[in-house]
Amino acid sequence: MLEYRIDRLRAIMHREELNAVVFFNPVNIRYFCGFTGTDGVLLVTRDKTVFLTDSRYTAQAEAQVVANVKKQYTLKVDGLVDELVACAVSRVGIEADFVTVALHQKLLDKHSSFSLVALDEPLREVRQVKDDAEISCLEKAAQLNKQAFESVLPMIKPGVTEQQIALELECFLRRAGGEDKAFELIVASGQRGALPHGVASDKKIATGELVTIDFGTRFCGYHSDETVTVAVGDVSTELRNIYDVVLEAHDRALAALSPSVKAREIDAVARQYIEQMGYGEYFGHGLGHGVGLEIHEAPTISPRSEAFLTAGMVFTIEPGIYIPGVGGVRIEDTVVMTVDGYRCLTQIPKTFRQVA
Ligand code: ZN
Ligand code: ZN
Repeated sequence: MLEYRIDRLRAIMHREELNAVVFFNPVNIRYFCGFTGTDGVLLVTRDKTVFLTDSRYTAQAEAQVVANVKKQYTLKVDGLVDELVACAVSRVGIEADFVTVALHQKLLDKHSSFSLVALDEPLREVRQVKDDAEISCLEKAAQLNKQAFESVLPMIKPGVTEQQIALELECFLRRAGGEDKAFELIVASGQRGALPHGVASDKKIATGELVTIDFGTRFCGYHSDETVTVAVGDVSTELRNIYDVVLEAHDRALAALSPSVKAREIDAVARQYIEQMGYGEYFGHGLGHGVGLEIHEAPTISPRSEAFLTAGMVFTIEPGIYIPGVGGVRIEDTVVMTVDGYRCLTQIPKTFRQVA
């Protein structure tokens, strides 16, 4: 599996005329060589892979890392530059969206015989298409979401605070095998539902409110991301209407997923429906985002996205309507594109649900 990832990277190196690529971002290091520690460097040349780390991580690297050579350094930049010089490289790709200006300068100060080439889009292209091992981790993380939601559902009732719900979800996810929460969990009730990123507060839930719960965990480094909106008691006709519009937008976007469709066409399916129903101004964010080792990664599903959706891509579909002073609804699923359509990884039913 890792060999195949390195092969795809080497194809990019060939295309970009690079002799080597250097990885500092722990997420990319994990992706290409399996190391889950937080400090190290991975060097990939046309014919070998070298993993370098310090004494704190050598035992871990020995156990986890798949690389032709494993080395220990005292100073990271010195150790890496020595290796680059030994490999006689001239054009070296670096992670443009991770390497700081200071680190970039340090590398050039140490040795100026090679040039550093910014690589970001090509790396996103590699990681956005998931292999089977990744998809099964994403699926497992999504299953944890379903179990957690089912266990927490009975406590969603008037008088309970948003934070209590968030804490229960988090505890359940951890106990069930999740590594950590995927992000600061969102529980937004009543008028707070109009905040697309309404992190759980000490507000108590009341009858007649919608509660938007956006949550996820990590399994083997891979995230789950799912949003459920539930009604507490009877809600107004307006809130119910908003729910139905968002659900229809979500269902239409999913139904439009087919191989090689443009991401922005999927965004348009949901957006145009919400506009037609008169709520266009209340849906401000993109329809979705890729999910993997990072909670937000390529491809982006938005009006500006240039991506074509192909088999193996994993991303969210999450339309929402947020009306200040009234409330909001978001419905989110994470799906994987297949050769003939898509498969939903998240499993909580999204039909209208009334509790308490
Ligand atoms: Zn989410
Ligand atoms: Zn999301």
